[in-house]
Amino acid sequence: MKARPEADVTTLKGVGPRLQSTLAKLGIHRLVDLLLHLPFRYQDRSRVVPLRQIRAGDDCLFEGSITACQTLFGRGRSLKVTLEDGTGQVVLRFFHFSRYQQENLSKSTYLRGYGTFRFYGRDLTCAHPEYETFNEPPPPPEATLTPVYPTTQGLGQARLRSLADQVCNLDWPDDIGTPFADLEFLHRPPTGTDFSEIDAVREKIAHDELTAYYLVMKGRALERKANVAPALPRSKALGRDLLRRLGFKLTQAQARVVSEVLTDLEKPVPMLRLVQGDVGSGKTVVAAFAAIRAAEQNCQTAVMAPTELLAEQHHINFAAWLEPLGINVTLLTGQLSAAEQRDRLEAIENGSVAVIVGTHALFQDKVVFNNLALSIIDEQHRFGVHQRMALKYKGNSYEPHQLVMTATPIPRTLTMALYADMDVSVIDELPAGRQPITTHTVAVGRRDELVKEVEKVLTSGRQAYWVCTLIDESDEIDATAATTLFPELVKKYPGNQVALLHGRMKSQEKIGVMQAFKDGEIDLLVATTVIEVGVDVPNATVMVIENAERMGLAQLHQLRGRVGRGSVASHCYLLFSEHLSEGAKVRLTAMRDSQDGFYLAEQDLKLRGPGDILGTRQAGEQSFRIADLGLHAHLMPKVIERGEKLITDDARSEEMFNLLKTWAPADSGNLTV
Ligand code: ADP
Ligand code: MG
Repeated sequence: MKARPEADVTTLKGVGPRLQSTLAKLGIHRLVDLLLHLPFRYQDRSRVVPLRQIRAGDDCLFEGSITACQTLFGRGRSLKVTLEDGTGQVVLRFFHFSRYQQENLSKSTYLRGYGTFRFYGRDLTCAHPEYETFNEPPPPPEATLTPVYPTTQGLGQARLRSLADQVCNLDWPDDIGTPFADLEFLHRPPTGTDFSEIDAVREKIAHDELTAYYLVMKGRALERKANVAPALPRSKALGRDLLRRLGFKLTQAQARVVSEVLTDLEKPVPMLRLVQGDVGSGKTVVAAFAAIRAAEQNCQTAVMAPTELLAEQHHINFAAWLEPLGINVTLLTGQLSAAEQRDRLEAIENGSVAVIVGTHALFQDKVVFNNLALSIIDEQHRFGVHQRMALKYKGNSYEPHQLVMTATPIPRTLTMALYADMDVSVIDELPAGRQPITTHTVAVGRRDELVKEVEKVLTSGRQAYWVCTLIDESDEIDATAATTLFPELVKKYPGNQVALLHGRMKSQEKIGVMQAFKDGEIDLLVATTVIEVGVDVPNATVMVIENAERMGLAQLHQLRGRVGRGSVASHCYLLFSEHLSEGAKVRLTAMRDSQDGFYLAEQDLKLRGPGDILGTRQAGEQSFRIADLGLHAHLMPKVIERGEKLITDDARSEEMFNLLKTWAPADSGNLTV
């Protein structure tokens, strides 16, 4: 049968409405989607592992003769099968089984199975293996690798394998944006294929997928640039006034980025610029210059922060910088009284405020801007793409310019992949005079010594953070909780003010505590990771992080960036519990040895993949089908080169068309990151 790539999956044998809706959950609608639904790993069922060589944790094909089959009565009934092959012995356990299974296992002589082994008491045991029984020695095993597909409830591997087989047997064109032969290779690796060949083919396909993605992003950028934004040329030079009043000189990097942003704003083309800068690199003030430019033209700016705490801080900063220049600033959060909210909404609508700082509250329908020209989104990785888009439609007759800021240092190759539709500015310099942060890794058993160390700091008039990953004790997670540690630390520091800050406190309370800490009324702040973004207290010079092993590098780096903001050397103590995993050891060592956010981000990318870095995993956003940015980000320079050629070279329009048709059908959400 000739394959029509975009034909419905229901054209396959055995795919009815029920299976169709299950497949839809995996993003599989068209025949080509099924072809692109590739195995994420393979089982090696081509080699029988001698029983003696099996170790706990192994996933393997095994066989032997059945030497015992007993029914056990413990907490529930179970079946225990003993298997021997002359080299050793293992146990198979079934905690639910049919009468047929039991009879078959007790009268058969040989068994071949596949499964994962664990110690169960003293027996190396495989629970519920896949198996086949024989009455004579089993024939040689299948010679090929067995694919394992990503799946969902109600859809077994066997079913997926047979669907993949069916789809591969169709008569496909040689090239559907990706060579058919490559896709088939991954579905049905030929005899003798080894894993390095599989990786190489995957990489080839990832290259195609990323190219399609790049083309889509470029397309979006073109669409945006065809729209009209308010041109914001310089008129009153209020920015100069701010420069004079700031009390510090901009770093060269800040000055460069300010000028990149202002140049964009002069044009009647919607800006979409990402400003990346490590924690403490001074992004906020860069944003302030952009807001001033809009205000000079009597246009409004929305500044959006991911948390109330951060919105509050931005409001304070923006007001202090802009109000002396005659620019009105207001705050809009979910915490206002009805009357306050009414007044502020009115001021936003009638244009009497120019800069509106807020949280998600800014998205509400009842927020009507008078003439929004610029939206600034801080810590953009905390927002979903859709939320960012929502502000876009708040412009009146124009599309507002967008400035997005992130402190998450994103490796350059990843930026190129994910933000191909944006222009990127990097603040790659910290303000002068920043003191280094010395980082120490400390076993939790030595917490008492640390308590003394911190006491010295508090006595000298400095402040400290003590960070926990949990608010309350938990049965499932073995980690120190803030509410447990807080009273203990209160007792340990009788001469100091100790306060607690966590995400379940009321917003007003949180802001009150934070303000008191800023004002120096609190010496030690026991907090959860709510303080991760934006909090700025230069007099705080020590941070202790409990259970640092539970956190990723990006998050640890963000947290640590809360200290080292003043003129005194700072310290960060990473407390870890025993039984560190290898990964955790690598992370903690990297943190101890480096303060370079970009280096740490690269490491994080290698160790954990991009979902954690970008927070897309949390936001539940779709990622790529095949490309794994942890493995394939290095392809980006080549991808961009190819993408640009495809865009400019008319002779290659068919290749471009095929790529997009297969990988980025207009109606699928698949390629949004
Ligand atoms: P981030 O990039 O993490 O958002 P902030 O904008 O919060 O950093 O800036 C951190 C601190 O550094 C703030 O107190 C800010 O006023 C200060 N700051 C910003 N730029 C400079 C500079 N060029 N020189 C000295 N201090 C600066
Ligand atoms: Mg910031």
